[in-house]
Amino acid sequence: MRSRPAKFLYAHRVLFGAAALALAVFSAFLVCFFALSQTASSLRLTVVIDAGHGGVDGGVTGVTTGVKESDVNLAYARALQEAFEDAGFRVVQTRPTEAGLYGVATAGYKKRDMLKRGEIINKSAPVLMISVHQNYFSQRARRGAQVFFRESSETSRALARAVQTSLNGMPECVKRTEALAGDYYVLNCSDYPSVIVECGFLSNEEDEKLLLDANYREKLVSAVLAGALSYLSDPAAG
Ligand SMILES: [Zn+2]
Repeated sequence: MRSRPAKFLYAHRVLFGAAALALAVFSAFLVCFFALSQTASSLRLTVVIDAGHGGVDGGVTGVTTGVKESDVNLAYARALQEAFEDAGFRVVQTRPTEAGLYGVATAGYKKRDMLKRGEIINKSAPVLMISVHQNYFSQRARRGAQVFFRESSETSRALARAVQTSLNGMPECVKRTEALAGDYYVLNCSDYPSVIVECGFLSNEEDEKLLLDANYREKLVSAVLAGALSYLSDPAAG
């Protein structure tokens, strides 16, 4: 004699069997879906954009307007983020706001700020890193965008050349320049292809005016993106 619950289970065995099978199929589907979406997101290439300075460290200041370099850098970094995201990249900003990355501005804040940037870059494992700065020089006639790379990094050199070539092709470019080797923490802290883009000279009136113009910002950002894409499509070219 079967008990009443056992009788019920036995009588509806086909129904329970079908339900168990459906559950198993659904679980398998969920596992597959999860695995596929993981693969898709892991294929998404990451770019790190580093807005130089920030917080108590304003960087250099504009010769005419007194604008802070840190604010100009942030505007360019945000525009770069948008451009790279539109091109399908995942973008990590080291400094997404006006604030510095040092915590409290006590002794050693600059070092803490730089170490944090290095930590973010290394954690993000990017296909490339672009640090955004504005230049300043005592000879006020100096103008134009300048790209820097770490001398011992061939991939960074290739990226820097591609970006500089693209910037040299802008109609506003007054003097074509070569990408230059530079010894900077943000270039030395990782082995990912890394460049500093000095967008222009805040010590020059014409450059300052251009750098604060939203249309020019879009053009310069498009030129940087084009250079980066050219590097990624043929990393050995340099
Ligand atoms: Zn700077």
